Amino acid sequence: MSDRDGKIWMDGQMVDWRDAKIHVLSHTLHYGCGAFEGVRAYNTAQGTAIFRLQEHTERLFNSAKILRMKIPFTPEQVMQAQLDVVRENKLESCYLRPLVWIGDQKLGVSPKGNTIHLMVAAWPWGAYLGEEGLARGIRVKTSSYTRHHVNITMTQAKAVSNYTNSILANMEATDEGYDEALLLDSAGFVSEGAGENLFIIKKGVVYTPDLSAGALNGITRDTIFNICNDLGLTLKEKRITRDEVYICDEAFFTGTAAEVTPIRELDRIELGRGSRGPITEKIQAAFFDIVNGRNPKYAEWLTKV
Ligand code: PMP
Repeated sequence: MSDRDGKIWMDGQMVDWRDAKIHVLSHTLHYGCGAFEGVRAYNTAQGTAIFRLQEHTERLFNSAKILRMKIPFTPEQVMQAQLDVVRENKLESCYLRPLVWIGDQKLGVSPKGNTIHLMVAAWPWGAYLGEEGLARGIRVKTSSYTRHHVNITMTQAKAVSNYTNSILANMEATDEGYDEALLLDSAGFVSEGAGENLFIIKKGVVYTPDLSAGALNGITRDTIFNICNDLGLTLKEKRITRDEVYICDEAFFTGTAAEVTPIRELDRIELGRGSRGPITEKIQAAFFDIVNGRNPKYAEWLTKV
């Protein structure tokens, strides 16, 4: 990953990809306090455009606020940096990774006295859970690891440290031959995937866990809320149990990387017909229309590079 051509925006400068380095004594590397974003740019009919740039940038600043880190740039500068990185690397469609981290002036749990840094990288990244997953659905395992309680590392921050839990869950699931993990909250209710929000459909109604289950407030999740409204589908945020997922008609994961990925199986139990369901297919098609600039209603969600 580090050995490639291109540029990375680092603290206000475009740096050669291979030279975008930090010191081994950087605070974030030792204690895991940092914040990041995952953003996508699509090759739309109107040219390359970043999807919901403003919302992703706002969430990055909110994550930093929750983690008591002051980003030394304005949101406008960070939005411009993301546009510049896509343009500079001549990418038509890509994934973007902004990251905020704490510097290397001093170690010790207290980060006080350290500088705060920001970088933005971008590279081509296809379907996160596979093209086949998008079409046929994926196989998911309920994790033996519990999702974060809302009062531990803060679940509304897209915090670097939160992902140790995601990594453990994903490795456990994939080691056992599944595609992804589903995590339950500390009370046993369904929370989210290792890097995705969950939706289930039962008798034509769409349900998703409310955020008190420790799930990230996904930007794709919000996009699905809009799509459901447009399609005349009732959507409810509520507590969801693991067995409600077993007996749902359809299920899917959402995320910037995962986009809209149907789930065909949980814990070796077939969900619905065991394939991408008809309502999921409609929602997925509407999603790809929006991100690819084919729905003028959401034109303002696409920022041209
Ligand atoms: N939950 C987790 C844990 C995630 O990492 C992600 C990906 N950012 C999501 C949900 C989905 O969020 P979004 O739709 O904003 O990418």
